[in-house]
Amino acid sequence: MRVAIYKGIEKIDIEMRSIPEISEDEILLQVKAAAICGTDIKTFLKGHPLFNPPCVLGHEFSGIIKQVGTRIESFKPGERVVCAPYIECGNCYNCKEGLGELCISKSFVGGAFSEYVKIPAKVVEKGTFKLGGNISFEVATLVEPLACCINGLQKLKLEVKNKKILVVGGGPMGLLLSLALKKQGAKPVISEVSTERLKFAEELGVKAVSPEKINLLDFTRSYSTSRGMDAVIVALAIPQLVEEAFLYVKEGGVVEIFGGLSKDLSLKINPFFIHYQEIDLVGSFGFSSRHFLDAFKMISSFPEPFEKFITQRYELKDIKKAFYDIYEKKGIKAVISF
Ligand SMILES: [Zn+2]
Ligand SMILES: [Zn+2]
Repeated sequence: MRVAIYKGIEKIDIEMRSIPEISEDEILLQVKAAAICGTDIKTFLKGHPLFNPPCVLGHEFSGIIKQVGTRIESFKPGERVVCAPYIECGNCYNCKEGLGELCISKSFVGGAFSEYVKIPAKVVEKGTFKLGGNISFEVATLVEPLACCINGLQKLKLEVKNKKILVVGGGPMGLLLSLALKKQGAKPVISEVSTERLKFAEELGVKAVSPEKINLLDFTRSYSTSRGMDAVIVALAIPQLVEEAFLYVKEGGVVEIFGGLSKDLSLKINPFFIHYQEIDLVGSFGFSSRHFLDAFKMISSFPEPFEKFITQRYELKDIKKAFYDIYEKKGIKAVISF
């Protein structure tokens, strides 16, 4: 089988590997679509502490079941499915507190920029779902990033219905967060500078403004009848935007760090906001199996807006070009189609 091997910064080679062997409680999946995510691009261009080369990237994928282990009864070859890239153990101290996304002993699927992947038992059991006929392989790749967004919304610890929420950043994650918010009855507004992304948000029916064209503080005040937004979700990995977010949120509101900020960064936050204004600062990272299930249900019940996200398709051999294109902010989401 052909596999895209990540060999270090800006190095990816397509190589031949043997198809993985599966055990009695595993599945062999023929990958049909694998989307490129911000994490993949960051790893490709700058390296990543969690991905040591040589390795295979890709964690948003779907495909056709090629082979099932002898003990598998719930799936059979030929079925179209989406799989989570990992599932929590369910037994560690974090899992027991309902924080599966922080599980210390996750079962991982190998990278999906590969013609076949082996799906481990835990992922077969709790993270594999059959696709309805109306759900394309490409749209199914959005279940994973949407699961991360659903976790992000739950970590606000806020009944989001009718709440006015500023989403800073209109990339794929900011857009998915906004769609999920709309679906839950909230009133999201995206702040984004790219005209292409502003237009895309509009096509999704999400209000979007450019902080280069309007004064964001004035806007958030007038939009929220002068009190400030109920919550601000920072979906870009820029520390200054987290610091700034406190200006836009109301007293007693919530600021969330959703975009991953690296370990060596620090923030400058005026404690006045936290103490005298009782503003909470929260974070969210990844997803657990229940978020993945919720995301699968959301996409299955209304796939149409999600279909718009897939703006580019590439063959595996052109994966480097796909990385550079997305880095240059061409389109929203690129998918490697097999
Ligand atoms: Zn991702
Ligand atoms: Zn665990």
